[in-house]
Amino acid sequence: MPVIGVLSLQGDFAEHVLMLDTLEVNSTEIRSQDSLQNIDGLIIPGGESTAIMRLLELYDLKNTIISLAKTGMPIWGTCAGMIILSKNILHSESQNKIHKYDPLNLIDIDITRNAFGRQIDSFEFDLDVEGLTDPYHSIFIRAPQVSRIGKNVEVLSSINDSTPVILKQDNILVSSFHPELTHDNRIHELFIKMF
Ligand code: GLN
Repeated sequence: MPVIGVLSLQGDFAEHVLMLDTLEVNSTEIRSQDSLQNIDGLIIPGGESTAIMRLLELYDLKNTIISLAKTGMPIWGTCAGMIILSKNILHSESQNKIHKYDPLNLIDIDITRNAFGRQIDSFEFDLDVEGLTDPYHSIFIRAPQVSRIGKNVEVLSSINDSTPVILKQDNILVSSFHPELTHDNRIHELFIKMF
């Protein structure tokens, strides 16, 4: 069984750990270079992408994560985690400030932050997901949208066949919603199947 690191700098890392527990998958909270050494995969949780990226740089974890990704280690980003793994971060019209941190550029997609609107515009949706038989009830909170998809990126699920919300490129998986906030561990199971 793989050991999954859960980046635990900010956001809902604890909920990911609990989800992995339900699948009896070992996990470890990642806050240092040392803790990155003995993992087989990594989850970057939802939260505030600017805060997580600031802390990634402060704790000098960014380049190590990029190197691990290049060795083929599976990495999954949910919501803010998806923003962090993307190639470019764009802004919705309501935001005119420049994002200060460069994303990790591990999946060939561009992202618009908060593209569905503010906190009050958060919503839930029953998604059809490739590899799952029944719909997945998903929770979107100040979610990003994908504005450009590179040709090697697969779309595993979209809202109404038009807005992609789960994507994969080789060992990198991203979802714009929060599977860790439900009681349904099937997306976590899909990630574990990547090992
Ligand atoms: N809007 C947040 C950001 O830009 C992401 C929200 C989330 O992870 N639920 O970082």
